[in-house]
Amino acid sequence: MEAETQQTFRSLSENVGAFRLRDKTFLIPQMNRIGGLLLAGAFRSFGVNAVLMDTYEGLDLGKAFTSGKECFPCQVTTGDILLFLKKEKERLGKDFDPDRYIYFMPEAEGPCRFGMYNKYQRIVLDSFPELESLKIGSLTSKNSYALDGMFDEEQTREFRKVGYFSVVVADVLDRLLWRVRPYEKQKGRADEFIERASHTMADAFERCGSSKDFERILDQLAEIIREGKTLINPAIPQKPLVGIVGEIYLRTHVQANQDVIRLLEKHGAEVVNASIAEWVNYTTYDRMREAKISLRLNLKQLRVSRIRDSLKKILSYGMDLSYQHYRQDQVYKRVKPLLDLAEDHRIHHMDEILGKEKIYSFDVGTEACLSIPGILEYVHQGYNGVVNVYPFTCMPSTITSSIIRPIMNQKKVPYLDTPYDGSFQPGREAAIRTFMYQAQQHFKRHGRNGSS
Ligand code: SF4
Repeated sequence: MEAETQQTFRSLSENVGAFRLRDKTFLIPQMNRIGGLLLAGAFRSFGVNAVLMDTYEGLDLGKAFTSGKECFPCQVTTGDILLFLKKEKERLGKDFDPDRYIYFMPEAEGPCRFGMYNKYQRIVLDSFPELESLKIGSLTSKNSYALDGMFDEEQTREFRKVGYFSVVVADVLDRLLWRVRPYEKQKGRADEFIERASHTMADAFERCGSSKDFERILDQLAEIIREGKTLINPAIPQKPLVGIVGEIYLRTHVQANQDVIRLLEKHGAEVVNASIAEWVNYTTYDRMREAKISLRLNLKQLRVSRIRDSLKKILSYGMDLSYQHYRQDQVYKRVKPLLDLAEDHRIHHMDEILGKEKIYSFDVGTEACLSIPGILEYVHQGYNGVVNVYPFTCMPSTITSSIIRPIMNQKKVPYLDTPYDGSFQPGREAAIRTFMYQAQQHFKRHGRNGSS
């Protein structure tokens, strides 16, 4: 028994971490499809054979290898990797070599359970003797998803920039879809168009990523926005605007959230989901914030070497954050004159909102730091309703719900919690229909800017 435990710990330390990607097939799980395609394109540009795995078809396998107490995204991703490997083994037969793959599963620091997914999945993979040598490539929010160890030092810095840019561009493509689909001239055109556009942009990242030719990537994006705009029927009147917040995986994974955006659109909404770049910016901002806190402590205790260390971290994360803002602004400045797409919230602004309202704190951490002020910001901007999308039992989203519900009642803005666990709840559509009725009423009374 002791030997078995030691073996488990050895596997967790030896087979989960940052591994060189050269000559490996890098398996990217599909959370947000567009983001995954673009990120894979960016990796390929740096010579990594990156593959975006199919998703959700392996859910039965995921459920078979989990107990039901894990978070739903853990079940989905466990199923995705197991099914992918099963198919690879069938395809390649005796040529299947687990050493050729690195499965990408990042993590975040506590207090929630995302930090345990890759450990849990390691244990599952180790239960198949032939998969023991397959590595899990992990990045952590502890250092704001630095890619140290995966590339050469120089390439790491360069890839981080291109990878972030791909995240922002993918956010814009998502926003384009949500902006166009409710008003499309011909049903189904927006979906077809965005699928095609995602591949075009993934190719652009593959071609221009390593040379950091951001302008050419933006030219391609601008062309897509112009074409997307032609799909809109200007005769369709403006619809109520609904904002989405919640747990990042569920709110962006179309199958896992049973395509909640399309369902809201079916009942008359135009929807804006919180972005992925927001989470990346949050992790960078939070590391800088922590470094500032430790600087204050070290100054009080006059610990010179630690003061230096904190200053270095503040500078480094501060530069990363400025760079991220610069690139994000560059993208939105290019696309906003072409089409009125929703912009992202700045994280320091979210922090200020929480500080002012005194209803939660960045000291506690988790996605609630973004969801709670994100909802208040939607209300401030005149949205007609907000939906919180999350896995059943998700801790940060449950916190968000408990804090924000009474506030939304007071503000008289429609609000809906939608937890998902893979089962189909018969009352789901009725709840969304009722919510949309309230959003319509809000829209009639206040318009979309809280002004009409
Ligand atoms: S955010 Fe929610 S779903 Fe994700 S790991 Fe934490 S508790 Fe689980």
